Amino acid sequence: MDIADQNFVKKINQKLLLKEILQHAPISRAKLSERTGLNKSTVSSQVSTLMKEHLVYEIGQGESSGGRRPVLLMFNKRAGCSIGIDVGIDYVNGILTDLEGSILYEEQIKLPPSSPEVTIRKLIELIKQLITQMPSSPYGLIGIGLCIHGLVDAGEQIVFTPHSKWKNVDLKTTLQETFQVPIFIENEANAGAYGEKIFGAAKHYDHLIYASIGTGIGIGIIINHHLYRGAYGFSGEMGHMTIDFNGPTCSCGNRGCWELYASEKALFQSLQTDDQHISHQDLEQLAKLNDMKTLNALRNFGFYLGVGLTNVLHTFNPQAIILRNKVIESHQAVLHVIKEEVSSRMDTQFSSHVELLPSSLGHNAPVLGMTSLVIEAFLQDATLTT
Ligand SMILES: [Zn+2]
Repeated sequence: MDIADQNFVKKINQKLLLKEILQHAPISRAKLSERTGLNKSTVSSQVSTLMKEHLVYEIGQGESSGGRRPVLLMFNKRAGCSIGIDVGIDYVNGILTDLEGSILYEEQIKLPPSSPEVTIRKLIELIKQLITQMPSSPYGLIGIGLCIHGLVDAGEQIVFTPHSKWKNVDLKTTLQETFQVPIFIENEANAGAYGEKIFGAAKHYDHLIYASIGTGIGIGIIINHHLYRGAYGFSGEMGHMTIDFNGPTCSCGNRGCWELYASEKALFQSLQTDDQHISHQDLEQLAKLNDMKTLNALRNFGFYLGVGLTNVLHTFNPQAIILRNKVIESHQAVLHVIKEEVSSRMDTQFSSHVELLPSSLGHNAPVLGMTSLVIEAFLQDATLTT
């Protein structure tokens, strides 16, 4: 084997070992050898390299099976920091995490819909603020992952955002030039799906749908553990699926789109009067007082969601659908209506196996998904190119 091949094999082995340490730490070298099938001297020399690279460290001693007590290995989650950012319609949410995705610092700013220039200036300020909170570490900031409510193509360019009307914005290059670290840009529903898959309600599912229900409706699709982005990155725009072919015109050009009926925006519009704007707090208050109009609106919200989710279930046959929406997360009754509607429209062989669950990470699902994508890319890179 020539040197290039030998190096390649070493890197593959390091990656394999790092994966085992990440999943099974604390773990001994002997156990690593047993789990990976690599011989003890290979494990020993590659673990030394990972230790020199500050990715792995030793702790105390484990249980002995007779002889000398083994030293155990841990993944060094403090070797660097990652940043996850969610650019919403009227807010920017940012988190700073360690290499296991634990949040070290978080900050959310309110931002009225603005030009891309204003939003980008504000989000750069937010990232700089997150960076000032970083503890010192061997790798420092390993990357920034940012998601946005809109179309992001396969080259990570923001093609279009339906609500703030951004068109062809190359945020990736701007952020790369400003911060000199790897930048990842993703659609918000995809990011949320990944967050729930790695850290949240969907941890134990291989096939899942994440529905982000806000001003519009977007879904993130995970098939066989992997995000499905479509050929050009635009999968999951199911808010624009027609549920009423004679319905009102949507901003997308279609008529009777699902999100015109079942988005959170539609729910609030149905409650609003000319002289009264309804906030989340008002809705909570009115629901507590059993206000009939509010209870009916919540019921309709669940009904319309159930109609569209039935189509989603028929299309993807997932193990679970995770619903990201503040109202659903705090009103069991809405989830109940959704479930009722779905089961009344589907044969039990389709609907009985699927779990309909509220998001467990709430507004942090997308930022955790992004930080996780950054960390995975870093670990992949650290063990394949160093
Ligand atoms: Zn539409």
